[in-house]
Amino acid sequence: MRVLHSPDSARHDPALYMRRGTPIPHPEQAARYAILRDAALQGGHVLAEPGDHGLGPIHAVHDPDYVAFLAEAWTRGAEMPGIADEILTGAFARPQMHRKPAGLLGLAGLYMADTSTPIRAGTWPAVYGAAQCAVAAADAALALGQAYALCRPPGHHAYAESAGGFCFLNNSAIAAARMRAATGGPVAILDIDVHHGNGTQGIFYTRADILTVSVHADPANYFPFYAGYADETGAGAGAGFNRNLPLPEGSGDGPWLAAVEAGLAAIAARGARGLVVALGLDAAGDDPIGALSVTRAGFAGAAARIARAGLPTALVQEGGYLCAALPENLAAFLAAFDAART
Ligand SMILES: [Zn+2]
Repeated sequence: MRVLHSPDSARHDPALYMRRGTPIPHPEQAARYAILRDAALQGGHVLAEPGDHGLGPIHAVHDPDYVAFLAEAWTRGAEMPGIADEILTGAFARPQMHRKPAGLLGLAGLYMADTSTPIRAGTWPAVYGAAQCAVAAADAALALGQAYALCRPPGHHAYAESAGGFCFLNNSAIAAARMRAATGGPVAILDIDVHHGNGTQGIFYTRADILTVSVHADPANYFPFYAGYADETGAGAGAGFNRNLPLPEGSGDGPWLAAVEAGLAAIAARGARGLVVALGLDAAGDDPIGALSVTRAGFAGAAARIARAGLPTALVQEGGYLCAALPENLAAFLAAFDAART
């Protein structure tokens, strides 16, 4: 398996995160990068850096003004007196309030959904490098059959013009748009992160050429709360091209793999010519912020099923947080995918 990774991933290292009223060490830590990279290396996979494909593939799915905000925010830090290591706000634009302010603090609240996405000195190089990994993995998947993008920070909660849920640029969406451009489409995204891929759904909700399928814990009482329900099926030209498969909290391998199979059947029915897997590993029972009970065997089972679909496949890292099972589950997934392809 070709593994695309960027050492710049380690340059975004947020400190704290407010979870359920309590500040805790931010779950999306830079250490995830080295742990996942080392797991891939020890699995015998071939590591490569992605090269620089520029802003074009990012602008294919993101608003250029939002991208410019991410790229420039840290250099504008002097506009926020008292700033320390992070640009972060506690005030957010609601749908009823839609004016675009000039100042940095107001822009942060316009372009962020929550307090999980602080911008630090190394944030832009990290998110840019992750996006380049997604682009390179899409290209490699079309050339070689499969590739894995070790994207960090993750991306599937990022909308066309907003960060949120630890995510800045939507790496899975960037990979899918890249694949769509190269193949003529249709292409599909199968999101198996424990959280609904709300940003990805939002980006492609009115499009028929990129099918989005998400298997996740029921958002009725779990992040991202405001999207991810089964009756969200797409709109306009995209009607019927979004599929949500929420599962009850605590669900294990049986129902999770059945949902993965249902997602793959929907993708096959649409004649997809390429596949992006939004590969969150936080459906694991051991994950510190997870809500499902998937085992290592479950991840291997999903990998085999996805591989047997026979599509050019870009695996794009999403969530999955620090615990002993994190590298084990990545290793199991990549090994099972390769085994099912040979
Ligand atoms: Zn997640």
